[in-house]
Amino acid sequence: MRVTLVAITPDPEALIARCARVSHRSEARASPEADRELIRKLLRRGHESVLEFASATFTVEGISRAAANQLTRHRLASFVQESQRFVDVHDRGLVRPPSFPDVLWKKVEALHRAALELYGESLAAGVPKEDARYILPIGTETRLVVSANFREWRHIIRLRGSPAAQWEIRELVARVLAILREHAPTVFDDLEVERP
Ligand SMILES: Cc1cc2nc3c(=O)[nH]c(=O)nc-3n(C[C@H](O)[C@H](O)[C@H](O)COP(=O)(O)OP(=O)(O)OC[C@H]3O[C@@H](n4cnc5c(N)ncnc54)[C@H](O)[C@@H]3O)c2cc1C
Repeated sequence: MRVTLVAITPDPEALIARCARVSHRSEARASPEADRELIRKLLRRGHESVLEFASATFTVEGISRAAANQLTRHRLASFVQESQRFVDVHDRGLVRPPSFPDVLWKKVEALHRAALELYGESLAAGVPKEDARYILPIGTETRLVVSANFREWRHIIRLRGSPAAQWEIRELVARVLAILREHAPTVFDDLEVERP
């Protein structure tokens, strides 16, 4: 799995604080430390709407279709996902869940090779990609771009980073969180993701 930051609001914490200060006309009190304190106070009080002024976009590669299906349930985020209708995906790998012992995984790999062979054979016989893909397992790797504002990222990280969430999406949000923390530590420092 690879998670890469494509774009992020410049100086996001200063922007969030600046917007928040409009409500109390406290712009004159702005400073990096005062801004951090203000953001902490807003988070403690659950006033998260000002976090919507900052956003971040990531590319995610090498996750399974199974994990992508979960991520794309988040309706306030925006997505583009590689299309199996238009792209020949015979070279895509299969994500290995850590629970599989080697002896079983060898069998899965054999099944995957057979599926890819049949996929290629079907394309050669004129079956369209959008139909040939039905042969492929849900563990097939995909790539996507995802964009969300900071309020929604916090929501996604809280839900998908919990021990109740599936291991692969937990790993994904752990990586997203690590990157977001570098750029906006005050906004994201209180979140924890227990890595699978
Ligand atoms: C551990 C776990 C297990 C899950 N298991 C299943 C499962 O078995 N089956 C299944 O189908 N799904 C499952 N889900 C997905 C889950 O039900 C949600 O669809 C998904 O997490 C998106 O959450 P959300 O709606 O809060 O977030 P988003 O879509 O990201 O929305 C963010 C927030 O915006 C608000 N919002 C968004 N749209 C609306 C709206 N139309 N009306 C009002 N408010 C809105 C809500 O406050 C929402 O929390 C699971 C999720 C988790 C984390």
